[in-house]
Amino acid sequence: MTIQVAIHQEQADQVATLKEKYAGMVGEELLRTMIEEEFLDDIVAVSSFGSESVVLLHMVSQIDPTVPVLFLNTGKLFGETLRYRDRLQAKLGLTDVRSLAPHPKDENERDKDGDLWLQDTDACCHFRKTLPLRRALSGFSAQITGRKRFQTDARTDMPMIEEDPQQLGMIKINPLANWSLDDLAAYIEKHNLPRHPLVKDGYLSIGCMPCTQRVKAGGDYRDGRWAGLDKDECGIHDGEYVDGGGI
Ligand code: SF4
Repeated sequence: MTIQVAIHQEQADQVATLKEKYAGMVGEELLRTMIEEEFLDDIVAVSSFGSESVVLLHMVSQIDPTVPVLFLNTGKLFGETLRYRDRLQAKLGLTDVRSLAPHPKDENERDKDGDLWLQDTDACCHFRKTLPLRRALSGFSAQITGRKRFQTDARTDMPMIEEDPQQLGMIKINPLANWSLDDLAAYIEKHNLPRHPLVKDGYLSIGCMPCTQRVKAGGDYRDGRWAGLDKDECGIHDGEYVDGGGI
């Protein structure tokens, strides 16, 4: 058995054990258990500071505001998102928000003119998101995501606890997987939390500026992301895009 296969097997066994141990546990209860018991000082949260990110970030801040929060500053974000990140960080008292940029060498070699998104969105997402995140996750055992099943077809069956196909040996925790938009809105209202400023302008799911549009009335949640393209995931959560390069 190769070392890689052995690690995969070990990870699969760990996921199976955690699923059995915490079957039925969701939301804040699952999050607290993972942060305070299973992965103490060995877990990070990943957040886009997007339209509903405040729910997960608020929960994390209530449990342990020193948990590292990884934020992908792709260089293509809305200014509103950057200001919202700063505002939330201060309001929630998060002490370790880490903004991850693409490596300058990657950017210089792959997207000198800054318009790769026009020709190849997968390649652009890969070096602006996947590679920086992969570097930042190194050394941790688990990551928390705010993904929900309703968001995309690929997420329909997403478990609360799963393996990370991109990060060998890493566990992913999705405590809000079964939450609906109504659940999120109710939580935000209950705790009087600030929404991303673009939500009121018709942006339902918010990513990079060139690849995000308003959603027309009656449109689907994800319609504004990579509109017109056969793409609804940036790639940081799956293992499909492989180019072998990158720093
Ligand atoms: S969302 Fe668009 S601009 Fe942002 S990294 Fe992906 S392709 Fe590039």
